[in-house]
Amino acid sequence: MSKLTKTGIKIPSLKQPADQRPVVDIPLPSRLFVPLIAGDGGACQLIANENETVQKCAVIATSGTANGFVYSPASGVLEGRQTVFHPLLGNVPCAIIKCAKTKADTRKKVPLASLSSEEIINLAFKKGIIDELDGQPLAKKLSACRKSKNPVLIADGSDSEPYSSSSWAVINQWGGLVYKGLKLAAIAAGTKNYKIGVTLDKNRFAGLLEKYRQAINPSVFIKADGKYPASYDLGNLKHLKKADICRLGVQACLALYEAVAFNRPQIDCVVTVTGDCVSNPRNVRAPFGTPVEHLLNFCGLSDPPEYVIIGDAMTGLAIQSPDIPIVPGITCLIAMKNRVQPPAHPCIGCGRCAAACHAKLLPYEIMRRLDNMQYERLDYLLPEECDGCGVCSYVCPSGLDVADKVLEARDSLGNIFMKWGVGDEL
Ligand code: SF4
Ligand code: SF4
Repeated sequence: MSKLTKTGIKIPSLKQPADQRPVVDIPLPSRLFVPLIAGDGGACQLIANENETVQKCAVIATSGTANGFVYSPASGVLEGRQTVFHPLLGNVPCAIIKCAKTKADTRKKVPLASLSSEEIINLAFKKGIIDELDGQPLAKKLSACRKSKNPVLIADGSDSEPYSSSSWAVINQWGGLVYKGLKLAAIAAGTKNYKIGVTLDKNRFAGLLEKYRQAINPSVFIKADGKYPASYDLGNLKHLKKADICRLGVQACLALYEAVAFNRPQIDCVVTVTGDCVSNPRNVRAPFGTPVEHLLNFCGLSDPPEYVIIGDAMTGLAIQSPDIPIVPGITCLIAMKNRVQPPAHPCIGCGRCAAACHAKLLPYEIMRRLDNMQYERLDYLLPEECDGCGVCSYVCPSGLDVADKVLEARDSLGNIFMKWGVGDEL
């Protein structure tokens, strides 16, 4: 049962046993389906020919702009192009790469030159780094931070949703490299204030500090409040009181370090594979374009799943087919026997959704106005402030999917106001 707090809620953690296990590299699938979309969001055209052999990390498509590239996540043969429906991207053309067995990564380290902010941002664009927290290009976020007066970067490893432990797994395994990437991000953003945030109990937090004692100043680590969505209290750090907090994904920080140190594009990600149908829940590192089914088979299925969700339980999407590819931004996969969905009842006006909303919205009121087609009044309720965290639906005793309604209002981008005309009373 949830416990209401002023901002966000306490939810049970379902991360074990995946969060206790090291990250493993998944064996290559027979084929990868790589979306032909560059890190800057531009649609790309293949530059490699059909049946051509492509090497891991080679450019296979370009948007024609200075930073718009798609890289091959593995060596193999480019078999062609196919349009795939992806719940996060819609109908998207993908390059099909028949994977070849490759030797272990032998990467040459590029000497870490003292790069300028602009050079780091350009590299983040060019190497296609997407921040897994929000699906935004890392370069765009860093450019925005640079314009802020007093930015504080937090590499957010809180994994505040119930199942996911991929951020923690990355910090636990590659914390020193995440830290180096975060420092590069701080140069790009023009700030000396940066932290790594985690959600851990006292003992595990002490273990983390001890593990990285030589590599990372302990004051860099901060603890999230343990609620969902997570927040960090920087109040005791006086000089950071009026800071603009910018959260970065720990995988994006790691990718930035690898882009600078090894000239490596972002070609893979760490995904938590879990749920009551998964026999061996764990965090796996998979190349982009790997079909979801391949990850599930690798971790083993004890039962055929009724639901497969990309993302976590609070914000994830149920998918119809497990052959969709892993793309940047997917950090968790859940395979479930069934999803308990109590029957919905009318709103009783209890206000729990409003009390729990960290964006301080009135979700029930947005839902009511949408349902009653009072579109002209919706804009006063600022649905655009909703980040889709799903807390309002989670706490609703009537079992209403309030978040879905708020998102409907948000994503209409004002179109429904135009449709009916401001001032129409219906
Ligand atoms: S989904 Fe939106 S409206 Fe609902 S609690 Fe989260 S931010 Fe608030
Ligand atoms: S939590 Fe549910 S029942 Fe309560 S006010 Fe919000 S929508 Fe209505």
